[in-house]
Amino acid sequence: MLTEPPLLTTAPPPPSLTDPILIIGGAGTFGLSTAWHLAQRGYANITCLDRFPFPSKDSAGYDCNKMARSEYNPDSTTKPDQVIHRLSQEALKAWRENHLLRGTFHETGRISIASSTENYEELREYYTELQAGPRAKDVKWFDSPAELKQFAPYLTGELANAKAVFNPEGGWVYAKEAMQRVGEECKRLGVKFVSGGAGTVREFIFASSQIDNDDDDDKTSPPNSSRIIGVRCQDGTTHPAAHTILAAGAWSPTLLSLQSQLISKCWTLAHIPITNPTERALLKDIPVILDLEKGFFFEPETATGLVKICNEFPGFTRWVDDMSVPDAAGVLHKQRISVPRGHGSHPTDGIPTRSTQEIHDLLRLLKPEWADPETYPLQDVKMCWCTDTPDREFLVCSHPHISSLTLATGASGHGFKMLPTIGDYVADLVEGRRLEAALESAWRWRPDAGERPGDGTRPGAGGDLGDVGGWRRGEDERARG
Ligand SMILES: Cc1cc2nc3c(=O)[nH]c(=O)nc-3n(C[C@H](O)[C@H](O)[C@H](O)COP(=O)(O)OP(=O)(O)OC[C@H]3O[C@@H](n4cnc5c(N)ncnc54)[C@H](O)[C@@H]3O)c2cc1C
Repeated sequence: MLTEPPLLTTAPPPPSLTDPILIIGGAGTFGLSTAWHLAQRGYANITCLDRFPFPSKDSAGYDCNKMARSEYNPDSTTKPDQVIHRLSQEALKAWRENHLLRGTFHETGRISIASSTENYEELREYYTELQAGPRAKDVKWFDSPAELKQFAPYLTGELANAKAVFNPEGGWVYAKEAMQRVGEECKRLGVKFVSGGAGTVREFIFASSQIDNDDDDDKTSPPNSSRIIGVRCQDGTTHPAAHTILAAGAWSPTLLSLQSQLISKCWTLAHIPITNPTERALLKDIPVILDLEKGFFFEPETATGLVKICNEFPGFTRWVDDMSVPDAAGVLHKQRISVPRGHGSHPTDGIPTRSTQEIHDLLRLLKPEWADPETYPLQDVKMCWCTDTPDREFLVCSHPHISSLTLATGASGHGFKMLPTIGDYVADLVEGRRLEAALESAWRWRPDAGERPGDGTRPGAGGDLGDVGGWRRGEDERARG
């Protein structure tokens, strides 16, 4: 049973500009953004802790490119919420205008393709909405493969039954490069970065756990309040904190009980090399290509000629039955959670056979010549870990039971585009400000909202990594490690 302290009824005093602030996952997407915004507000004692230096190789953002959508639609083309739509527009504005990020954003637009009756309807609604937007005259509807191919001749596949929409707004960002620049800017503003054993957080240090250190019998009654006063890292190093921000992405639920609000899952991706300069030139500046049923790809990366391809699927979990995780009072409980196995920490991992097949299925549909592994071998394959809330809204709020802890997690597979802006909201929370009502409601602590992902029965989940083969490259694929 969890020994939760009571709900905090008054906001704790915010940290002063010189108090120590720790950001766990500080070399990842939300962590870097938070450090950047806090440092711009004058906080002078910020430490970013991470397993890797920025951009962290375990981060979901450690990638050549990510989509920056103009609309906010986590589930393909579902109708966007107006507040969240505004957030996406705000992020796009920052990608276009922020001097630090100049050149990392490529506003190529996006082609969304549907091939089933069910998705036609969604696509049509999406098109109608875009027609009411500011770029309506450049939005296009393609009613047949022939119409689509006229606009996008590089789509050489049969595209049977395809209907499509071109949205000229948004595009893609050079993700790793953007994170690198934000990290450099943080350093320039005085943020400290600690990585390796001294930056990999093992546990929180609770004020109460210091007091109760030797009194295990007393741990069943909830303490009056709970406060985190620092963290202990893998090599034993401790870091004191007046305020802590948990931004550890898919690893967040391994460090603190989040009461099954988050489920961590991995998605899979691969690259193919485009070595022919003429082919590369033809593909320069093409829109992001998103098939709603099968996946998406981007134009070749300028420096390497690699095309990144992702298959569309619900993600793999990696359940561990008896993970010891502290509750809000610092008391450890065994929990069943999905534990990530990051690419940075396990660089020899491949992707499941099923994912390789799905990536080839996508290519056969849209660009069959790329499905020939002799000419276009899949390379740099990897699994990328994110953490989802049941409703796919972020978990960005003050912890309701622990003073001095802000949560900046639950990015739900669509958080990268918020790199320039999410930290501004987290910084507001650190300063004890309330977010506007709609955001406060969407991003709140909500253990009782919707389905419970922690029970492993979430509909649509792609299965457990332990049950699929091909990714361990020679090791025992069923083993945990
Ligand atoms: C295949 C794929 C494609 C995607 N495409 C898009 C897209 O096109 N557009 C988009 O907007 N989003 C996209 N996303 C989602 C986006 O990448 C994530 O939502 C976002 O990057 C998550 O940010 P985060 O800060 O929560 O986590 P991360 O960026 O993963 O950061 C977590 C950090 O915590 C660190 N960490 C972990 N454990 C510890 C510890 N114990 N101590 C210290 N540090 C620790 C990690 O090293 C990491 O740096 C995609 C995700 C995937 C997997």
